[in-house]
Amino acid sequence: MTNKIMKSIMLVSGAAVLITITLVTMLMNSYSREKTAEGLKQDAEIIASALELNGGRYLDITQFEDIIRVTWISDSGKVIFDSIEDPETLDDHSDRKEVKDAVKNGEGLSARYSDTIMHTTINYALRLSDGSVIRVSGIHRSILAQMMNMLGPIIIILVAAALISAASAVLISRSIVRPINNIDLESPNTAACYRELEPLLNKLRVQNARVGRQMDELRTNQDQFELIMGSMSEGIIIADQKLNVVAQNTAAAGLLGSSSFRTGHSIYALNNSEGFRRCLLDALGGRRSECIIHTGNGDREIIASPARSMEMVCGVAVFIMDITEKQKLETMRREFTANVSHELKTPLTTIYGISDMLAGGIVKAEDVAGFGENIRSEAERLISLVTDTIALSKLDEGTVIGEKETVELIPFVEEILSRLELAAAEKGVSTSVSGENISIKCERLLLSETLYNICDNGIKYNKQGGSLEVIISEKKKHVLITVKDTGIGIPHEQQDRIFERFYRGDKSRSGKIKGTGLGLSIVKHSVMRMGGNIRVESTPDRGTTFTIELPVQ
Ligand code: ATP
Ligand code: MG
Repeated sequence: MTNKIMKSIMLVSGAAVLITITLVTMLMNSYSREKTAEGLKQDAEIIASALELNGGRYLDITQFEDIIRVTWISDSGKVIFDSIEDPETLDDHSDRKEVKDAVKNGEGLSARYSDTIMHTTINYALRLSDGSVIRVSGIHRSILAQMMNMLGPIIIILVAAALISAASAVLISRSIVRPINNIDLESPNTAACYRELEPLLNKLRVQNARVGRQMDELRTNQDQFELIMGSMSEGIIIADQKLNVVAQNTAAAGLLGSSSFRTGHSIYALNNSEGFRRCLLDALGGRRSECIIHTGNGDREIIASPARSMEMVCGVAVFIMDITEKQKLETMRREFTANVSHELKTPLTTIYGISDMLAGGIVKAEDVAGFGENIRSEAERLISLVTDTIALSKLDEGTVIGEKETVELIPFVEEILSRLELAAAEKGVSTSVSGENISIKCERLLLSETLYNICDNGIKYNKQGGSLEVIISEKKKHVLITVKDTGIGIPHEQQDRIFERFYRGDKSRSGKIKGTGLGLSIVKHSVMRMGGNIRVESTPDRGTTFTIELPVQ
């Protein structure tokens, strides 16, 4: 812009100087021509009056200046006198324009330009009373021709003027452009710049504000998107056609067992297993593909979908889900079914065997009662197994077992212990309940199942003449129910497993203590359903303490 303004200023000033010079030269030229003609006229009038008085003798005795030429022409056109040339050598002058005009009008003026001498000759002719014509000619030197004589100084003046105008052009253009250059485009200040730019700057300010708002919106959307992506437990990866990662969330790398990963790298850097590769290649081939891969941190389900642009696959979107827990539950479900079938089969086989013997009549009459007792005991086992399985499946499905009720704990525990009186008496185990009589709100049946199972264990796995103590206390809006026995205890390595379905300790199996191994699973589920937790502390041969923590409300 500075250059353009500078060039324009120089061009305009150059043109102005040239036009001025041309016009002034033309003006001066015409003025000087008029002056020359006027001088010639005066000379001609003086000579004419002298001729009228003195006749031709005047011309012969008068010495004329070099700068003028005097010619006397007779009325027939013949040259009678000429101050420079011999009149005999000169041709007839009657056809000269100034002579013709003088004969006709009394005076005549003409100008003839000579290329050779680059000057104009001006002729002024005056008719005398006898019809002859006196003509005075003079040379008019044009201003241009005069200027040619001063070419050197003129060139110096022009160069100096050009330099001065160039310097001024630079300074002026810079000073014009400076306020524009100083505009802060982020927050334009109209007061500090040209008024002509005000509408533009106002528009810029409005647009800046709009762009700012849009950027804020974009940033908010981006933040929200990143927040959602970042808080997702599922992994998402977007990869391009070459399977280089374009975008991913934080969960993705962790789920695929990679600690650090940067966008732009190959997706295989995250996981290189056969299944993962096949899944991605299928998606690149345009097919949605699913697979399960095993990482060091667990099992992952992978869903890879092709991303299309204009019907062409341009990338892959990969979803990663942690299915470790799901797989575990699936395994547990399979084991549970197998265990239930097995546990059902054992008593049923016994019942079938005995009834077969009875039907075959091979059992002696005195043994029938014994076999009947066996059938009853196995049937009892079956009933307890089926009851526990139903209870567990209800807990698994989350079926509501009952409405929440207010339960006064001391009488509630006393009632449970009374149901176990017979078993306790058989083993000589003394039972007691102590502590604060706190009331809690819970599903009565769940609490009853929980405490019954734990107290049942505390008697079953106790020593002859041992004790079972239930203590109730309160701690920060929670109630602690501690069930303490002096029984056989649980080895440390088994303590984590006792809550598993069908898990039974070695001693309970070998000691022929009856049970299905479902009691503590029901306890754990019930406690979780009531929003509490359970922990166990045990020392083999010394005893076991279960502590249940439940919210009061
Ligand atoms: P069920 O309760 O279904 O009749 P169970 O008592 O064998 O059978 P759980 O109550 O689930 O099953 O207990 C699992 C195992 O934990 C028991 O077999 C036993 O080995 C151990 N156990 C549970 N409670 C005690 C305890 N108070 N003292 C010692 N061992 C215990
Ligand atoms: Mg039990």
